[in-house]
Amino acid sequence: MANGKIGSIRVSPRGPRFEVLLKNENAKGCVFYGRQCNHCDIPTLGMGINPKENQRLLVEDIVKLGDEKDLVKQVNLYGSGNVLSRIEISDETFNFAITSMLMFRNLECIGIDSRPEIAISRMGKERIEHALYIISRTSIRFEVIVGYETQDVQLRTSEGGLHKMISEKHMEQVFQLAKELGLGLQINVMLMPVPTMQLRDAVEEAVRTIERVKELQNKFGVAFVLVNLHPLYITRKMLAKWGEGILSNPLPSHAEIQEVVSRCGRLLPIFVGLDDEGLSVKKDY
Ligand code: SF4
Repeated sequence: MANGKIGSIRVSPRGPRFEVLLKNENAKGCVFYGRQCNHCDIPTLGMGINPKENQRLLVEDIVKLGDEKDLVKQVNLYGSGNVLSRIEISDETFNFAITSMLMFRNLECIGIDSRPEIAISRMGKERIEHALYIISRTSIRFEVIVGYETQDVQLRTSEGGLHKMISEKHMEQVFQLAKELGLGLQINVMLMPVPTMQLRDAVEEAVRTIERVKELQNKFGVAFVLVNLHPLYITRKMLAKWGEGILSNPLPSHAEIQEVVSRCGRLLPIFVGLDDEGLSVKKDY
């Protein structure tokens, strides 16, 4: 399982991986927060930041790496929202961030966090094409990171589930886009999408979800697909939704993570994301 760390760089099937969080420049934060995504408190990590300050923090993160910068093969640019949205991250910051990636001398790919609805929109495509232009003299691959979470439509979209309104059609469209533009994809899969689930069901659902991602890869012929497997941790938003009773439910631990990786590792490369971004009220790993 790929969980090791070299300083602040994590080991991934893509090689040493560095992650940066851009803060949301929209005062209301992620445009989906509040109406969707019953599990996610990430938008609380930043709202309404000045673009110049956002760029300063990005440079600070890169400079802190020192010589380790030259080990990095993959950078993921996350946002406290959607990095491909102009409403949330200004053009100035987006272009600055992509250009900053040229400081990584051995970089092989850049992952950009977004919803599929945004990636496939005119705004998202313009951003992707501009990023491709900036890196066009390099061999760096551009990847879109999508929080699919689960193949179970009911679990993903219902009010009682995650209430994250990503449809199967959106997923097909983002795979089609990746094929057309020669992009890679990183698909986030939650090990236990909702905190009321039993551990056994959570493992089986993660396996089914990774199998579905593999099907999509085969159907659209996208060469580079990475699974980011995220075991559930409890957030304050979940407590508000499901109540304190969920704190006594067992959560995925290393045993469940290991089972999913050993059953699905032959299908697709899997990176295990154990970071709770400092937001967990409870986690079992
Ligand atoms: S999961 Fe993504 S889209 Fe949903 S609230 Fe969190 S940051 Fe926004």
